[in-house]
Amino acid sequence: MKAAVLYETGGPEVLKIEEMPMPRPGPTQVLVKVAAAGMCGHDHADRTGITRTERPVILGHEVSGVVVEVGEKVSHFQPGDSVASKQFASCGRCVYCRSMRDLQCSERRFARGGFAEYVALDDQIIIKIPEGVDLEGASIAACAVGSCLRALRQSAKVVHGETVVITGAGGGLGVHGLQVAKALGAHTIAVTSSPHKVEALREYGADQVVLAQGADYWRDIVEANNGEEPQVVIDTVGHPDVFTACFRALGRHGRYVFIGQVYRQKVELYPAIVLGKEVVITGSAATRMNEFLDAMEMVRLGTVRPVFQSFPLAQVVEASRQMDDRKVFGRTVLVP
Ligand SMILES: [Zn+2]
Ligand SMILES: [Zn+2]
Repeated sequence: MKAAVLYETGGPEVLKIEEMPMPRPGPTQVLVKVAAAGMCGHDHADRTGITRTERPVILGHEVSGVVVEVGEKVSHFQPGDSVASKQFASCGRCVYCRSMRDLQCSERRFARGGFAEYVALDDQIIIKIPEGVDLEGASIAACAVGSCLRALRQSAKVVHGETVVITGAGGGLGVHGLQVAKALGAHTIAVTSSPHKVEALREYGADQVVLAQGADYWRDIVEANNGEEPQVVIDTVGHPDVFTACFRALGRHGRYVFIGQVYRQKVELYPAIVLGKEVVITGSAATRMNEFLDAMEMVRLGTVRPVFQSFPLAQVVEASRQMDDRKVFGRTVLVP
């Protein structure tokens, strides 16, 4: 089968399309013929070396496809099922896994292998795709929609009527974060550095759009919120300049939620601002199964419309380049 293999870290060109052996499903795994695989900041970080991953590796953890074979201990899925995956598996037995805290499981492991024609996935990380949801959109329900749902609901604890600022709003997380924030009853301010994305952002749930230009756009954020400091920032970028501006705009008792880091740079802050405003700086690490199910339901209902641009798997280098250059609106999706 064909797959995009990563041998070394670097620019988009380090992703090589190669003939690889067909994966074999373990006892609790299913073999999936991949229909689509989303490419996100995590894949970017693995490729560029911001994160450390063993290599060679086939990246891709946002998978949808059709089950073609099941392991001997798999009972809930059968060949022919359309399924989508979330980002990580856990042991399922430890005290954390049994108490809705599986992100703390010591055996938590990241799913990979989606940038290929076939992938073997743990049965515990997949769900059946509901009727009416297309496979390409379903591939990004967990990572792009579910992570934002976790950030807004679990980490930020957004309350109806609060104002949520979303940075990197035209990216794969941002455009879904906007829609989830609207669904939770928030007023939304999209922050983008791409003027050509402004109109589309309004279409996908931005009540206001602020262009990230210069050092003082925190004023524009406050102005866009009728002169009030917003309660929540969902930062999908994690760049020091973005943090400086958006953290400055954040109001008293605000919550600043990191959900992505695209650059290997540190942010700076004065502790006095944290204590003076009693703000919380937190994050959202992944998608738990309850968030995955809820995110998929939002997609099924049309509350959240998956926004993506598809590329053939063979064009993985070009797809990565366009993502790096922020040319893609929404998520980048590879189709074998
Ligand atoms: Zn992802
Ligand atoms: Zn566990």
